[in-house]
Amino acid sequence: MSDNDPQTTEAGGKIRCDACPVLCYIRPGMAGACDRYANHDGKLVRLDPHIVLNRALEDGQKLVEFSRGADWSGDIVGQPTAFVTAIGAGTTYPDYKPAPFIVSSQVDGIDMITVVTEGIFSYCGVKVKIDTDRFLGPERNLVRAQGEPVGHVTTGEYGSQMLSLGGVHHLTGGSKKAGRVTCETLLNLSNGHSVELTVDDGATVLVQAGLPPIVNGMKEERMRVGCGSAAIGMFAKQWFGKIDDVVVVDDHITGVLSEHQAGKFLGVPDTGIKLKGRRSTPGRYFQVANPGTGWGGTDISDPLSILGPFDPKEAWPGLRLLMVSTTGENHAYFELDERLRPVERDLPAALAESVERIKENCEPALSTVLFMGGAGGSLRAGVTENPVRLTRSVKDALTRVTCGGAPVYIWPGGGITFMVDVTRLPQNAFGYVPTPALVAPIEFTMRRDDYAALGGHVGEIRDLSTLRGNALQIGQHPENPWPLDLRREEPSHG
Ligand code: SF4
Repeated sequence: MSDNDPQTTEAGGKIRCDACPVLCYIRPGMAGACDRYANHDGKLVRLDPHIVLNRALEDGQKLVEFSRGADWSGDIVGQPTAFVTAIGAGTTYPDYKPAPFIVSSQVDGIDMITVVTEGIFSYCGVKVKIDTDRFLGPERNLVRAQGEPVGHVTTGEYGSQMLSLGGVHHLTGGSKKAGRVTCETLLNLSNGHSVELTVDDGATVLVQAGLPPIVNGMKEERMRVGCGSAAIGMFAKQWFGKIDDVVVVDDHITGVLSEHQAGKFLGVPDTGIKLKGRRSTPGRYFQVANPGTGWGGTDISDPLSILGPFDPKEAWPGLRLLMVSTTGENHAYFELDERLRPVERDLPAALAESVERIKENCEPALSTVLFMGGAGGSLRAGVTENPVRLTRSVKDALTRVTCGGAPVYIWPGGGITFMVDVTRLPQNAFGYVPTPALVAPIEFTMRRDDYAALGGHVGEIRDLSTLRGNALQIGQHPENPWPLDLRREEPSHG
């Protein structure tokens, strides 16, 4: 153990862990409340291996042990192919203690410092993007896990429904059970496990980062090609001459070919079609039905229910009409009879191709989970005695922030509020403590002289050969930039 390790106090064979405010007394052979630390033969040990990224290993999931229970050999020290992550590194508490690992390495002859810690985040949550047209529930409605409120539906995006889960209010502001369930939900989502969520007055959705969402028991296959109006714009030319009118049914903006600007440019004649809902601009209609899990995110299963009678001054018997949803999943072909009533017929082969083209242009529907946390608080004191200088150094791009070696997006403005795509981290990189709060790995990498300039704990810098541990090396995620390469631009997406 070193001065930076959680201090222990023996009391009848028990040892006290002070890596977080819970201050567990841990009996011999037992683990603490977070399952991260245990009492092993009277010593406090971190249970999970410490993860070191090795850019020479190709498979991002392959683990290669290089040290276990002994002094680290130091064979990776100074090698630009190795990066010490915070996963399994442990935590120091209270915050004024230096971070558990402040490690030096050489990159192209430059002395680099990486400060790593498993941060305890009371201010954190996840943003979930669910690629589906299906209505999950009204914006602002509560999202529940195990019946407890854990977040809410937030502003929908293009082709996706968005959930905002966790945050300090849900972690600390409700009942003890609500806080615990929120913490568990965030942990599972961040670690890439599936979680069932239910929206008040809405749907039940099974979410797992990087996999298709399952809405009310149905696996979502495709993300819409665009809104109804965009679909008209994209495919108008392919429909021209093969059909008299097309309606692309969409809960937000339903498009009508003959009225739409795209149809006008091509010279599609008026058809006398009448849509329910609110006309926004020519060929673009809002609120043709209620939101739901039917056609194009509406509640309809019969597309004709959004049409009024055709105008006899413009329509004609035999008029051909295609109605299709924004994913191509639902479609129907009609011809008007002598009384100008639509009669469903088999889809002609020439039109089947265009429906297939809509499907082809849809991307696979996925659930995306971004962990978002605030590292602009007391955690900074583990890096420097003058915390605001770390914030400034991050803003000035002198210090790179990574989360388990993955690139992060730092929000502009005050603090160090970051977001990370959880699929870019090694598996099970997140933990928790029952305060409740999430434990997330965070690394700060900078030049040694910059570290000294911001008031860093330079007396704590060490190389790995001085450390004992239980470590595994793992190949970095192929899409992640190498964390020690400070010359490389950060990706804009985070
Ligand atoms: S919850 Fe975990 S980190 Fe916190 S004191 Fe207990 S064992 Fe230590």
